[in-house]
Amino acid sequence: MAKIIDGRTIAAQIRTEVGREVARLRDAGIELKLSAILVGEDPASRIYVRTKRRACSEVGITSEVMKLPSTVPEEELLQRIDSLNGDSRVSGILVQRPLPGHISVDEVLEAVTPEKDVDGFHPRNLGRLLAGSPSFVPATPLGIQELLLRSGHPPDGRDVVIVGRSDLVGKPLAALLMRKSEGANATVTVCHSSTRRLEAHTKRANILVVAAGSPGFIRGHMVKAGAVVIDVGINRVEDARNPKGYRIVGDVAFEEVSKVARAITPVPGGVGPMTVAMLLRNTVTAGSRQSGQTF
Ligand code: NDP
Repeated sequence: MAKIIDGRTIAAQIRTEVGREVARLRDAGIELKLSAILVGEDPASRIYVRTKRRACSEVGITSEVMKLPSTVPEEELLQRIDSLNGDSRVSGILVQRPLPGHISVDEVLEAVTPEKDVDGFHPRNLGRLLAGSPSFVPATPLGIQELLLRSGHPPDGRDVVIVGRSDLVGKPLAALLMRKSEGANATVTVCHSSTRRLEAHTKRANILVVAAGSPGFIRGHMVKAGAVVIDVGINRVEDARNPKGYRIVGDVAFEEVSKVARAITPVPGGVGPMTVAMLLRNTVTAGSRQSGQTF
């Protein structure tokens, strides 16, 4: 049976480290603040923002949320972002997605000043990642790399196969893990919905990362014996036995795959907590850079 890579425990270690750094900065007179912008009433987005704020408060980072109606004009949203850009008390800014259809995601991502872009989605930060000198790296890919390193599975020299090429996960993760740098140096294959013979790719992965958004999509026969499997998926499936009427599952058929893999992340409790922990770390990095301190 595969060993469980416990994202909750590893994320808790990172939060402790971040908390120490926040305290050190506070001793030097520097307060950190994360400002989140939430547009509309999407229930999942509200939960994500609440989770992030709770994590901030646990490590001593002040947070605020600016709630805007789903009808907010794009121009007003851009002005709000600009005022946060210019507010010296704000260390990091995040705009929770999805955004309503009338708002251009690209315009919004570009509006956040790169120095406060703790989500790492500004084209300048993504460009720096590709160019090999990252500044802010998106939190989920960063969390996946950290999970691999801290669980004793460095990607260096390994065949890493990523299922999913989204801007949020697959693409930045590929760029991060192929970097010419210790803790990366992987041979990376990125698969997507037009990939032919997906199984031929997944089956040769030493490290398989799945971010497809499809519950239980990766089955046992698609995984190489002894592989490390990182399940990024967060999917709600109906479950009449659960009091909530649903449960959260990943993109990997956990029972089957854990009989084949060497190590596997659970869902929940794998990548999810790492994403939040790395957002906190990016916020500390932003605040310390703005103050001229090093992290
Ligand atoms: P997207 O829907 O943006 O991307 C899904 C990717 O999977 C696409 O590249 C798509 O290909 C590919 N894909 C879909 N079906 C197949 C298939 N049958 N074969 C091969 N590739 C396929 O999703 P995200 O990257 O935003 O999210 C993926 C999952 O991760 C979701 O469940 C999401 O909730 C979760 N997530 C979890 C996070 C965490 O913190 N744990 C953070 C972010 C996301 P194509 O490009 O061709 O359409």
